[in-house]
Amino acid sequence: MLNTIGRYANQHHYNIPPTKSKVICYGSAKNHRTNTWNLSDNIIELSNETTHLGLKRSSKKENEVNIEDRVKSARRTKYALMNSGLHGTNGLSPKISYTIYRTYVLPRLLYGLEILSLTKTQIQILERFHIGTLRAIQALATRTAKPAVYLLLGVLPVEAEIHKRKLTFLHSLTTCSNNKIKRNHQQTNCTKYNLPDIFDKNIPIPSKLSWKKLVKTEISSFWTLRLKEEAHQMSSLKFLNLNFGNADSTHPVWDSVEQNLIEIRKASTKVRMLTGTYMVQADKHKFSQYTIDPTCLLCHREIEDILHVLTQCPVLCNERKEYFTPIKQLVTENSPPGTWELLFNNKLAVTQLVLDCTKYMKQLGFKEELILKLETLTRHFCFKLHYKRISLLKKLDG
Ligand SMILES: [Zn+2]
Repeated sequence: MLNTIGRYANQHHYNIPPTKSKVICYGSAKNHRTNTWNLSDNIIELSNETTHLGLKRSSKKENEVNIEDRVKSARRTKYALMNSGLHGTNGLSPKISYTIYRTYVLPRLLYGLEILSLTKTQIQILERFHIGTLRAIQALATRTAKPAVYLLLGVLPVEAEIHKRKLTFLHSLTTCSNNKIKRNHQQTNCTKYNLPDIFDKNIPIPSKLSWKKLVKTEISSFWTLRLKEEAHQMSSLKFLNLNFGNADSTHPVWDSVEQNLIEIRKASTKVRMLTGTYMVQADKHKFSQYTIDPTCLLCHREIEDILHVLTQCPVLCNERKEYFTPIKQLVTENSPPGTWELLFNNKLAVTQLVLDCTKYMKQLGFKEELILKLETLTRHFCFKLHYKRISLLKKLDG
């Protein structure tokens, strides 16, 4: 077989240097050890591992070797980019950080993986790197629920990204005459994503562009549903409105933030409140196995949860009044008369409005521009209350 390759190369006037070529045997090694491989009268030794087009080819544990390699390369790229600000809390907005990550790091993490069949555990290794970076970009606590990490930034999990690449690759295979490769990739998730089988001869093959578009839409709607279902089960995400947006669209909480250090800090405080990771006395009570008193340290009147901080605590009433007035004003000026009294007659609804106003988008008849304005006002509100609360708590601590 090597001679055939050598002859073909000669005919087409290119060289395959025997010293740079390697032979790797798949399957049981015993049968192959006795064979010798010759190319242009040179003996080529059997080896266990080699790199071809950036992918490691190996007789053993090929997937594991490649994944380790991908993660290492992606991590190196990530660290190299940290100087440019690819990290939370240092002045680059999460949306921009993600664009940098998507452009430079993600392609390295997923390079060539569309042709390997990865197991669930192998995908999880990649996912851990992916979600770790997304958390850092958004300056989120480790205990933040996974669906929120994806949904707020509008990012798909690694599994979805790999499937996207696999399905695009599948289209390229339609023109390929090698039936073995075709068969190997045929089981790729067409049915999972509600896509037509492009190897079915009765269906005309779509153009590459329209196929890519279709894959993108179907994968996005599949993962929107899946992530939202997961988020629905989580009590920490009870204020996150799951009827808004797609898995690949950024939530207004990040979308409304300009490239401005202070605004980004304010937004990240708000995101912690929205994802249930903003530490209040009630959380300390829960995490300390009920030894710490959950009562508010500022007013000593009732249990301090996020609702208490945002709408009840009398100690914060001056800030609340000052920063809530513009919110109320914006809503009443831009909605039919009586809407405010009808919708926001209880503290829970007010908390919901402050934390994720997209929930009332339809009832208020708000378009995107007003939502972003409202988001900015509620961001100030949350941050000012947080700031006051923290400074009072520090004073109490002495
Ligand atoms: Zn209080």
